[in-house]
Amino acid sequence: MLNLMKSSKIYATIGLMRIGILGGGQLGRMLALAGYPLGFRFLLLDPDAAACGGDVAPLLTADYDDPVALERLASECAVVTYDFENVPAGSAETLARRVAVHPAPAALACAQDRWHEKQLFTKLGIATPDYAPVDSRDDLAAALARIGLPAVLKTRRFGYDGKGQVVLRTTAQIDTEWRRFAGQPLLLEAFVPFDVECSIIAVRDAGGQIATYPLTRNLHRDGILAASLAPYPCGATLYGEAVNWISRLLDYFSYIGVMALELFVAGDRLLANEFAPRVHNSGHWTIDGAATSQFENHLRAIAGLPLGATDCRGAALMLNWIGEMPERDPWLALPGLHWHDYRKTPRPGRKLGHATLIAEDNDALRKNGAELAAQYDPAMLEKLLKN
Ligand code: AMP
Repeated sequence: MLNLMKSSKIYATIGLMRIGILGGGQLGRMLALAGYPLGFRFLLLDPDAAACGGDVAPLLTADYDDPVALERLASECAVVTYDFENVPAGSAETLARRVAVHPAPAALACAQDRWHEKQLFTKLGIATPDYAPVDSRDDLAAALARIGLPAVLKTRRFGYDGKGQVVLRTTAQIDTEWRRFAGQPLLLEAFVPFDVECSIIAVRDAGGQIATYPLTRNLHRDGILAASLAPYPCGATLYGEAVNWISRLLDYFSYIGVMALELFVAGDRLLANEFAPRVHNSGHWTIDGAATSQFENHLRAIAGLPLGATDCRGAALMLNWIGEMPERDPWLALPGLHWHDYRKTPRPGRKLGHATLIAEDNDALRKNGAELAAQYDPAMLEKLLKN
């Protein structure tokens, strides 16, 4: 039985904990919002003085490798995490010599290089599209001879939201795209004619216990996540495989915190695309649609608290607001609609907020979401809601 006296003493200590976050964007903001009810305080570091996390938590404005800022995080925080995978791995390593840093900087460094990430998938027996590193025009020719067209040429580092990649469909494209990308380390991948894109989010605590959320189906527009549906009714075999793969990754790094694994479903095959060593956009529905959100579970894990239940509260449909925020009030009239405005300055292609519609099940979601679908992107949502 739970010893409440003992656990309340632990709570009193943890309640004083300040958590540092490298990155003060919407993920840092939502982490802080999830952490206040648990009694945590926060300190965010972001080079942008207008980072939206600064609305809800103290924000240090400095580069991610600024020694003075890193020193402040190390001395004022009990644990440091990140909301963005392109923070320099060196900064996480420097911090880790002074203060607990979760997830492990090694996971961050691996996720920053697509070739290392793919090699780890191979090592752990996780299926992934055929791939080859490309450092020269000769490498590209050899990789294309093996992998064939169509193929996807990607920068190994600093790619996100579909940036830093191109689909090569014809031989006529090859030289032009090579000239555009040459000079940086690249990776060629087989193009996967996938049926569905989905992701799995899992959390691992310091004792090695793993909790997983149901599979989420994702739709992208212009390479940016536009909508997610959870749970994606994929069947036990695919789900079991996804759980198995993400568990291997988590255990490999002795990982503490939330990880997301992006997947392609092609026929009855599952292929891993990439992992993110952080809370993930495709898990935003968990704020309103799961017993414990990905944000709260990440904080619980890194603070050494017991993990919360990951069960769904029915079915959830999450829509990203990209480039501009729609007028809020008409949307709030929809039953089961939850609104999240990150209060960011609008800019094309920028994620400004999201809305999550919760319903009893997929059928109810389709019915309640009809109005939403009509205004957002009917064709896209029809595709997403179709089983
Ligand atoms: P990434 O930056 O790797 O997550 O890629 C962004 C998006 O590009 C993915 O969500 C897919 O829609 C698409 N994509 C990436 N890699 C491939 C691939 N090998 N085959 C087909 N589509 C891909």
